[in-house]
Amino acid sequence: MKKIILLIVICLQQFGFSQQLTQVSTIDALLSGHYDGVISITKLLEYGSFGIGTFDKLDGEMIVYDGVVYQFKSDGKLYSAEAENTSPFASVVNFISIQSWSFTNINLAEIETKIDSLITNLNIPYAVKISGKYSYVKTRTVPSQEKPYKILAEVTKTQPVFEWSDQTGNLVGFRLPDYMKGINVPGYHLHFISEDKTKGGHLLECKFDRAVVEIMPVYEFKMILPENSEFGKIDFSKDRSYELKKVEKE
Ligand code: ZN
Repeated sequence: MKKIILLIVICLQQFGFSQQLTQVSTIDALLSGHYDGVISITKLLEYGSFGIGTFDKLDGEMIVYDGVVYQFKSDGKLYSAEAENTSPFASVVNFISIQSWSFTNINLAEIETKIDSLITNLNIPYAVKISGKYSYVKTRTVPSQEKPYKILAEVTKTQPVFEWSDQTGNLVGFRLPDYMKGINVPGYHLHFISEDKTKGGHLLECKFDRAVVEIMPVYEFKMILPENSEFGKIDFSKDRSYELKKVEKE
């Protein structure tokens, strides 16, 4: 089985496919309140058909799934993003399943621990896809902001939170190594999208009845940095790890 996957990857590489993660801006820029979009949705899709992020003015959570960009807004509805919309922060890959495992009756913390014990190299990025049947899912989204922008830790104090039972859907995201601190989110960062494409959001908690985890290791990393002068004024010397933890997990 491993040989077949390796052969498929080599063939895809011949046609210009690479296991590359492309990221727009940095998580610390987002944490410090830089919500103006810097890349169009159309351009973002040139770099990958699978991933996560947010939108211009922080208008909802982004889920890039099967080449479609979805927007889960604070009204609790999932939309197909407008092509002319833009993103201030996003991470995408062209996902192919390199390794997969199945689990039953497991929660989010347990499945993350399981994956950590099964992957051989914890110091490279992984794209993570989990197809599941869930007894419980809890997500949040972020509401559209007006200038002057508040920092993200202030915005998320009043974030809309959503809870559902008996769902079928996918988790889309990444497990990133600790050295990406400041650039992206170390550890797991997953967004939910329901099978019927009506629900989504930044995952806070879930319980799986069944889960199929698929991962793709990433060996190439590309950053697209904002060309605006605002980015040049951000103080990146500040350690925002505490803010990130508040924003991502609560
Ligand atoms: Zn998120």
